[in-house]
Amino acid sequence: MTDYRRLRVALLGAGAVGSQVAALLRQHADELADRAGARLELVGIAVRDVDAKRDVELPRELFTTDAESLIVGADIVIELMGGIEPARGYLLQAINSGADIVTANKALLATHGPEIFDAADQVGAEVYYEAAAAGAIPIIRPLRDSLAGDRVQRIMGIVNGTTNYILDRMDTEGAEFADVLADAQRLGYAEADPTADVEGYDAAQKAAILASLAFHTTVPLDAVHREGITAVDKSMMDAARHAGYVIKLLAVCERLHDESGESISVRVYPALIDRAHPLASVHGANNAVFVQAEAAGNLMFYGAGAGGVQTASAVLGDVVSAARRHIAGGVGVGESTLANLPIVPVGRVTTRYQITLEVDDQAGVLATVAGILSEGRVSIATVEQTVIQDGNGRPGVARLVIGTHKALEQDLSETVDRLAASGVVERVVSVLRVEGD
Ligand code: NAP
Repeated sequence: MTDYRRLRVALLGAGAVGSQVAALLRQHADELADRAGARLELVGIAVRDVDAKRDVELPRELFTTDAESLIVGADIVIELMGGIEPARGYLLQAINSGADIVTANKALLATHGPEIFDAADQVGAEVYYEAAAAGAIPIIRPLRDSLAGDRVQRIMGIVNGTTNYILDRMDTEGAEFADVLADAQRLGYAEADPTADVEGYDAAQKAAILASLAFHTTVPLDAVHREGITAVDKSMMDAARHAGYVIKLLAVCERLHDESGESISVRVYPALIDRAHPLASVHGANNAVFVQAEAAGNLMFYGAGAGGVQTASAVLGDVVSAARRHIAGGVGVGESTLANLPIVPVGRVTTRYQITLEVDDQAGVLATVAGILSEGRVSIATVEQTVIQDGNGRPGVARLVIGTHKALEQDLSETVDRLAASGVVERVVSVLRVEGD
């Protein structure tokens, strides 16, 4: 066997992901050495409680609560603790003491990414974070390396497994949001506090990471427009299905072109997707990232967006890259912010919409609604009317499902406000964007 140089690997965290990384580092030591060109020696694992029960059996002597001492002298530091502090401090310490770093910490990168990347840049270290955007799915390396010579136009990602699981069951079983959420919590797909998932915060962090990379632009988390799925109900699901769509929580990162030049939009919201679109077939807790690039065309990356051992796979890929670079030496390539494109608010985005209204079932109402839409520069593509209540001889209520052509979000939302105040609209049931054109 080749007598490889040894690299000291320090692991911070041995939870769902970290414990699996530690196990795989040991189990696959020979294969990893051959790929990396170095023997990856796990020198220690920093945790809060050295005696806590772990998902896999690991030698007790590897554990320590002293992360700072562990980092000293490490060639590669893998951060799998999560959260902002002390993870941020440890990563900065690692960078400044000459290590390359691997992290899966989306919360940290989405909020302090520039600080970490700048610190690495200053000393020529590299930051690897494949597992921070879509768990096991390779998407960072494709964006950073494979598509480096291309121009990404749009990314549409199903990047949160919990919400995809909930929406998929609502779609396929006709179930209500609250019932599926309760089930998801019981089965361990959703946290006891599901806010980060169902309100779109987790997806927004991932969108910020993907957009920053794809568009050579720092995208701060607060520039990501975010809506969750708590307002999605069975009637919206039924209407979507009836119209040939499915509702997915999408992270959309898009390059826009207009007379003032190029800009980008980054947004997370539940949207309608045509059932024939590849993203419509992403079921259960799976994730997928659909990338549209100028030269490569459409690409889709699909698989497990979470899970301890699945995510560990992506982390180990990063460890091998970090090891190769550590041996080769040279200056690390920092994150590119070359383009620094302006990030536009969601009001400046153009998409199609499906508007569902309850209106008085009377002659002339449709014409009034059409008039308001037209005045608001929203052009109608399809209209479907169903009488949902016949009021025993009195005028009933009709449900109007209106599909629009592409319209500016700002025009659309002002128009919907005018519809709501028009006197003929009883209720605006829902307004959903249609993505995937
Ligand atoms: P986890 O199960 O909660 O494990 C966290 C680990 O970090 C534990 O071992 C904990 O020690 C240790 N830790 C936390 N705070 C610490 C501190 N102050 N000092 C020392 N050790 C500390 O987390 P996880 O699910 O493995 O996630 C790790 C990272 O991967 C997160 O950034 C997460 O967002 C990311 N990620 C996770 C998944 C997934 O499916 N789980 C998928 C993609 C990305 P103790 O065990 O002693 O408490």
